[in-house]
Amino acid sequence: MKQIRVKAYAKVNLGLDVLRRREDGYHEVRMIMQTVDLYDDLNISKTKDQKISITANLKFLPVDENNLIYKAAKLFLDACGISEGVTVDLKKHIPVAAGMAGGSSDAAAVLYSMNELFQTGLTLPRLMELGVKIGADVPYCLMQGTALAEGIGEKLTELPSMMECPVLVAKPGIHVSTAFVYGNLKLDNVLHPDIDAQIAAMKEKNLKKTADCMGNVLESVTIPKYPVVAKIKDCMIKNGALNAMMSGSGPTVFGLFEDEKTAKAAYQTLYDQGLAKWVYLTGIYNDRRR
Ligand code: ATP
Repeated sequence: MKQIRVKAYAKVNLGLDVLRRREDGYHEVRMIMQTVDLYDDLNISKTKDQKISITANLKFLPVDENNLIYKAAKLFLDACGISEGVTVDLKKHIPVAAGMAGGSSDAAAVLYSMNELFQTGLTLPRLMELGVKIGADVPYCLMQGTALAEGIGEKLTELPSMMECPVLVAKPGIHVSTAFVYGNLKLDNVLHPDIDAQIAAMKEKNLKKTADCMGNVLESVTIPKYPVVAKIKDCMIKNGALNAMMSGSGPTVFGLFEDEKTAKAAYQTLYDQGLAKWVYLTGIYNDRRR
């Protein structure tokens, strides 16, 4: 095998709670992670020289060692003692700096498919051990599907698959720094989502109850600074979403819908109102990597 194509899927958080700030500055979280059917395309080819080269369709993305793809490829080659290289062509479709783990998902896809390309036979848990060195979301992006993420996001428990439903995703044309959001989070006065109730609703396969339990403590920082996030949520809910919430530290908002017709109409309204720069109508993606 000389070349491999892989899709790197985006995630949303159906619930996001922060329990406490640890002494080392990281935050202990409890999040329900869900893969959605929105992905980047990667084409990875082996090269005889030891270089890692990246090309990308978005000019503003770094293609040097600052790209998470580079970090993943380097880590993999070093861990396996391989003296060849790779070229990676990235077609980015996941919104960047959006709270959808786009970079982490690219890194996970690189680790997973280089293991196939070089026939190195690493297990998924071993790939996850490598992945967490790149970022806390990378182990989840390797696993995909529905999961509870605890610790700093790297302690994963598989959950039963989320019910399929249309998902409307909208990102306003603003950039939100994850460090700013966590740095300004005040935990004494926030409304914590009931993650256990949401897990129970998901086990019952009750979409309405699952949506009712959606909550993200990070909205308490992002929304006051960027009110457009609340406007997009309101627009989705007024137009038939069961519920709508910010993903990760934002600014992307997603809404869950019961049926395609309502979701399509909401997509059009949101698009026409011009609140968001990018609007996508997608769905739940439940395939898990093994
Ligand atoms: P998360 O949900 O994990 O916080 P995010 O959606 O906020 O992720 P990313 O899209 O992963 O953020 O990108 C954040 C920054 O990382 C960007 O500003 C970008 O310059 C840099 N970056 C490095 N590699 C990549 C990559 N492969 N794809 C996207 N961004 C990347």
